[in-house]
Amino acid sequence: MREEDTEWSIDEARLVYGVARNDLHFLDINDKGELVLVIDGHSRTFNEILNEIRIENGTHPAYTSSFTLRIPQLIVLRVKRLRKAFARALKELNYKGEFLAVYPIKVNQRYDCVTTVLEADDDYGLEAGTKTELLLIKRALNEKSEKDGKDQKHRRIVCNGTKDPEYLDIIEECIKEGFHITISIESLHEARLVVEQFKANEVEMVLRLKPYIEVEGHWSHSIGRDSKFGLSIQDLFDVIDLFREKGFLESVTTILAHVGSQIEDVSSFKRFGKYMTNIFYQLRDMGLDHLHIIDFGGGLPVDYTSSNIPLLMEQYARNLVEGIQEFIGDNTPEIIPSILIEAGRGITAQGSLVVVKALEVRSVYPTIEKISEEARAILSEWAGRIRKTKTMREVIEIWNKFHEEFASEDILLTKTLQDEAIVGELEKITREHIAKDLSTKEPLVLESVVPVRNLWQPEHIVIGNFSVFNSIGDSVLVDQHFPIIPVKGLHVRPETTIRLVDITCDSDGEFSNFYRQKHDKILWTQDHRPLTLSRGEIGTGIPVGVLRDVVGSHFVIPLTGAYQDVIEMDHNLLGDLPDVQISVNKEGEWKIMWMQGAETMHQILQEVGFDIESDYDPYMSGSKK
Ligand code: PLP
Repeated sequence: MREEDTEWSIDEARLVYGVARNDLHFLDINDKGELVLVIDGHSRTFNEILNEIRIENGTHPAYTSSFTLRIPQLIVLRVKRLRKAFARALKELNYKGEFLAVYPIKVNQRYDCVTTVLEADDDYGLEAGTKTELLLIKRALNEKSEKDGKDQKHRRIVCNGTKDPEYLDIIEECIKEGFHITISIESLHEARLVVEQFKANEVEMVLRLKPYIEVEGHWSHSIGRDSKFGLSIQDLFDVIDLFREKGFLESVTTILAHVGSQIEDVSSFKRFGKYMTNIFYQLRDMGLDHLHIIDFGGGLPVDYTSSNIPLLMEQYARNLVEGIQEFIGDNTPEIIPSILIEAGRGITAQGSLVVVKALEVRSVYPTIEKISEEARAILSEWAGRIRKTKTMREVIEIWNKFHEEFASEDILLTKTLQDEAIVGELEKITREHIAKDLSTKEPLVLESVVPVRNLWQPEHIVIGNFSVFNSIGDSVLVDQHFPIIPVKGLHVRPETTIRLVDITCDSDGEFSNFYRQKHDKILWTQDHRPLTLSRGEIGTGIPVGVLRDVVGSHFVIPLTGAYQDVIEMDHNLLGDLPDVQISVNKEGEWKIMWMQGAETMHQILQEVGFDIESDYDPYMSGSKK
């Protein structure tokens, strides 16, 4: 192997895996090529964490398989940073309105998550989307009041979601107990229910509007006339007429619109800010004299590919305030709207990561050593033709011809073995030729060319002890991309790329996408697969340092703290992974706490109506320490 085939630097590894920057600022790689967790300037390798977990989990010795690592401190940092980002934007743009925030608990209702948000900021409110979530919020605030000896009823509670009579009853109860409830009105029907049940002077209301505006984002279909949520323009006028007639106009303090989640182009928020401010003043002119807050919903994106602009949160805050300012211009209106934010994923995504143990590595192709003389001759002929090509187009032509001539209906097993070995070896030769000899390296992705098989498709499949459906459901449900990084071997040029598949019996149970960063120079694996491209792109294949070290080692999937706990599915009766919490104090002392064991087979079987106890349950649930 030539030296340039193996030369590698830690900075190149950081670039390729996207760590030590943006939303992966809390991960880094040390000189030994180990993945490191960094919190408040203190660091710990994942290998150390894994060793410690083995000791900490004393009730189940030697447990080192997959688990979810919870890092509440990272949620605290996000909450504080959001407030700081807005404080700065307000100051720099000389904006006189107030900043308010609520955490929409649907994003992650776990006890540790909700209580961490409340601990992080004395004024942060909470948002409920259902009556059950409202009950949770009430309990969380009551518990905190008791614990701190300090009333928490000043915190704003936004009640979104469809209001059935029980939801309204619970709201009424909360209002009577002194909680600061605001009820969002999403339809004329809801407006009528509220008017019937409450007195005007005892309720605070939010008009949730369909935003008639275009923005770019993963869930941007939640905008416009077809949106499932909020008042259409007709509903809005009807609700205002109803409120005027019944004397409820002064109960409306807030307008709300949510333009969707993961709005990656944060400059959209400038237009959104301007749009909502325009509506705000029009509604005040229509008699909503107590209207003084604009709730901009969620949408703060997470940089899952580590390729967005740095300081995304700060840019988001600035764009929003600039948009509001732009509408107000040089006017000096009687009232400047306060800004309310319901950021969800941007607050909690960093708070959890999934650590997956690799159980086994399987090869797609047979070894070349055992092929016949005849097969060797075929291989040598096609290899010669590939090596003569000068452009990618020519490479593709040869591959097309190869597939036409080579295709065979023959199902003799010994022939299949030879054929598979030839294809595997020819792919290797082609990749090497493209990486080393071709002057033009574009287009590097051949997936769209039929029948050329994607040359970058990994040759190795790693079996991970997890279920994609349980731990990272959005990757199959909505094609959400998540980063992934091996815990070791990052100091060498990656030997190859792999596909990580789970242990469910579903072919969708695979987690193999990896974002190839945009970079002037194409970096290659040792077996000549691109690690970076001239344009950033998601492709199949996770780079690994040393393939033979993969079994028994772990992969880290960060940024799973938003929505993934909520949507988990028990496919194949594979339940939750165990949870481990980690924190570090100012002195740099780390604390690892085993929160709860994995769901037992007994528990999962009970969920489907079979009460079967098993001696094979490896971990007892609730081994809380
Ligand atoms: N607020 C509302 C009304 C929502 O519907 C959502 C998500 O769907 C959010 C806030 C949270 O959005 P995000 O996680 O994008 O911040």
